[in-house]
Amino acid sequence: MSQRNIKEYSPIVGESVVEELFLLADKLRGKVIQNVNSTAVGGGVAEILAHMVPLFKQLGVDARWDVIKGNEKFFLITKKIHNALHGVDVTFSDEEFDFFKQVNAENAADMASYGDIVFIHDSQPIGLIEKKKDIGKKWVWRCHIDFTNPTAQIEAFLRDYIERYDSAVFSAQSFSRQLSIPQVLIAPSIDPLSDKNRDLPEETITSVLESFNIDPQRQIVTQISRFDYLKDPVGVIKAYLKVKQYVDCQLVLAGGGATDDPEGAKVLEDVRNAAADDPDIHVLLLPAGSDIEINALQRASSVVLQKSLKEGFGLTVAEALWKSKPVIAGAVGGIPQQITHKYSGILTYSIDGTVYYLKQLLNDPDYAKRLGANGREHVKHNFLITRHIRDYILLFLSLYYSEDVVQL
Ligand code: UDP
Repeated sequence: MSQRNIKEYSPIVGESVVEELFLLADKLRGKVIQNVNSTAVGGGVAEILAHMVPLFKQLGVDARWDVIKGNEKFFLITKKIHNALHGVDVTFSDEEFDFFKQVNAENAADMASYGDIVFIHDSQPIGLIEKKKDIGKKWVWRCHIDFTNPTAQIEAFLRDYIERYDSAVFSAQSFSRQLSIPQVLIAPSIDPLSDKNRDLPEETITSVLESFNIDPQRQIVTQISRFDYLKDPVGVIKAYLKVKQYVDCQLVLAGGGATDDPEGAKVLEDVRNAAADDPDIHVLLLPAGSDIEINALQRASSVVLQKSLKEGFGLTVAEALWKSKPVIAGAVGGIPQQITHKYSGILTYSIDGTVYYLKQLLNDPDYAKRLGANGREHVKHNFLITRHIRDYILLFLSLYYSEDVVQL
């Protein structure tokens, strides 16, 4: 986990922002925040927790992080729930729901109940709320994914849990639902000082490219993502193959798995088949902790793609914008919060749209640079970790001071 000093953020966000965090955090003193999610590595939730939990501690807030246990059967079901939340047409048997409940009950029995505020991330551990009737405490459910279009079956199943929480947090206004509990909107964030986002010396970028046999002299187009159908990596290859007929460039598709995502291997196989033996398509399976590599790949790119078909927030977009990169991304989930079309990046809806704008940006570096610069400014003001911590502290305080709906 990150060992940075919170005061190191002052030159980026301003001293007053950091001072305010200390003042607000002081009001939470004595309270323990117990975060719970389903994977320690891989994906955006683990990425945020790994950087945020140590910073909370530096602010004097006792934040901790637990990961639930589950076997492959459980994570196949939870991935199916994830897909159903994104509107994918799947149905669940009673046996699947019963197994989900059973694994949550086992985790509830095993997990120490030390938190004054139990902060549950996403749907995998949502059933831990059953403990509330025995232990009380404040319970918050944090939804990190697009909740706009869930299947009716999964919405009904989860609603039964969600409405037992004290509060629910969504990443974007469009994701919120009609619920009987207070809801708040808190966008995710990136850590500008992490290995994934901090400035890198040119030599590091060059040596990462060399280690992957990528030519630093030719333009590079990159998508960093878990190998997931909803990130549309095969669509990225199709777009790239069309663009390559007009502009010389290389494609990097880099990603790893997450321990709670069992579909990855199949998607990777499809990607490798689609890439065939094109030497300019670099499909990189990255081990956990490849933060410097990801940072270098993003920085070395002429254009970063995030051609998602569905998305929660899309941290990879913020990561690339922070590096002043022009980003072409699917207009889904939290991506339009980050990109204003033709101002701080490009929003697309199709492979052909991606092709059109990719050709344009590769051929017009000045325009690409303007988009990237505007994107960095937008991320600086809205999606850095200090803003995120402030929003969470206010939310936690509101649990003690108000029963009303809170708008942050
Ligand atoms: N990521 C990573 N290694 C990989 C692929 C992704 O560290 O091989 C990181 C990526 O840099 C980002 C996060 O995982 O910080 C993915 O978050 P995002 O919101 O983009 O997507 P999610 O995986 O949560 O759907």
